[in-house]
Amino acid sequence: MKINGNFLNLKDSYLFSTVAKKIKEFQSANPGVKVYRLGIGDVTLPLVPAVIEAMHKAVDEMGRKETFRGYGPEQGHDFLRDAIANYYADKKVKISSDEIFISDGAKSDLGNILDILDPSDKVLIPDPVYPAYVDTNIMAGRKIDTALGNQANSFKPMPDENYKADIIYICSPNNPTGSVYNYEELKAWVDYANRQKALIIFDCAYEAFVGDESLPTSIFQIEGARTCAIEFCSFSKTAGFTGTRCGYTVVPQELVFDGVKVNSLWNRRQCTKFNGVPYIVQRGAEAVFSKEGNRQIRENIAYYKENARIIHEALEKKGIWHIGGVNSPYIWLKCPDGMTSWEYFDHLLTKAHVVGTPGAGFGEMGEGYFRLTAFGDRETTQEAVKRILEFS
Ligand code: PLP
Repeated sequence: MKINGNFLNLKDSYLFSTVAKKIKEFQSANPGVKVYRLGIGDVTLPLVPAVIEAMHKAVDEMGRKETFRGYGPEQGHDFLRDAIANYYADKKVKISSDEIFISDGAKSDLGNILDILDPSDKVLIPDPVYPAYVDTNIMAGRKIDTALGNQANSFKPMPDENYKADIIYICSPNNPTGSVYNYEELKAWVDYANRQKALIIFDCAYEAFVGDESLPTSIFQIEGARTCAIEFCSFSKTAGFTGTRCGYTVVPQELVFDGVKVNSLWNRRQCTKFNGVPYIVQRGAEAVFSKEGNRQIRENIAYYKENARIIHEALEKKGIWHIGGVNSPYIWLKCPDGMTSWEYFDHLLTKAHVVGTPGAGFGEMGEGYFRLTAFGDRETTQEAVKRILEFS
């Protein structure tokens, strides 16, 4: 027996373990000193009452013979697929229920989709970005090229006609930079992909944070995307489902490569390898789209966005270069005084007692930058910001 040698090509991920180790060392050397965390990429507010109520009801249904449910459809229950299709319709995007596949979160499907793509495909991944794209492609033995993000392009790399890609990743709003592509920029990517007969893997896990109506929240708001893109979305940051687990993947019927309908192939893959998301969780996700549920999740998002605004305003005042924090829970800043990401991490931890995430952990182009997040509570955010201003 031989193991999959591609896994040996993975670099160890030291980012969050090193962050945790450094905090632990600091705390044991400075007992009783409070540390303010703005590094967290997880939500902190609980599930909203409408979701809890729907899940309680579903639990009761599961306990009665007449309403008990066993295996559900692998693609997800119709009630949730229809609710998501209506959500798209509200954005004036026509997506039919059979193009929507319910998942246990975006991360799983972002990895799983590679099952149906050829390992010899050339993949273009932005840098800096959510690290799972790189690692899942290394596991598949795929050659990776990077689309470089930098200050000059506001960390929104654009297509290069001289470069031939087969698979293109786009994350908008971006983790970690918080940058969001506008309509014209996404249209350029869609046109490029269609010309190149490439596939766009569009991750919009943070779409609910986009408040600016002039910005797209779905790739399918762009003309031509139905022949070149798959969209991955999640209830994790939209509705606090990071621990509850639910997301969805949209595969248009028009998406055809090598004469094969990608929707059918993905459906075949899912029916073979996946047995669906728990009924109780899907009922909770459905409640996110109810009038009351939507109002409640919007309140939570507004809370995080106010945290983001507080951080953004403070950095602005201090004249620290940054982006994000307006249509995104992430703020991406340039480390002051030419410090590297880890130097600034150490500086903030030891002087201000504030924790963020070194940009270098999201790719080589992240070196010299730093990510702060809005997912903390208000008091922590306010105090952390005060301290950053004092010590930066
Ligand atoms: N995509 C991006 C860009 C993320 O930042 C994350 C989580 O942090 C995910 C996907 C994973 O989402 P999920 O919790 O739905 O698996």
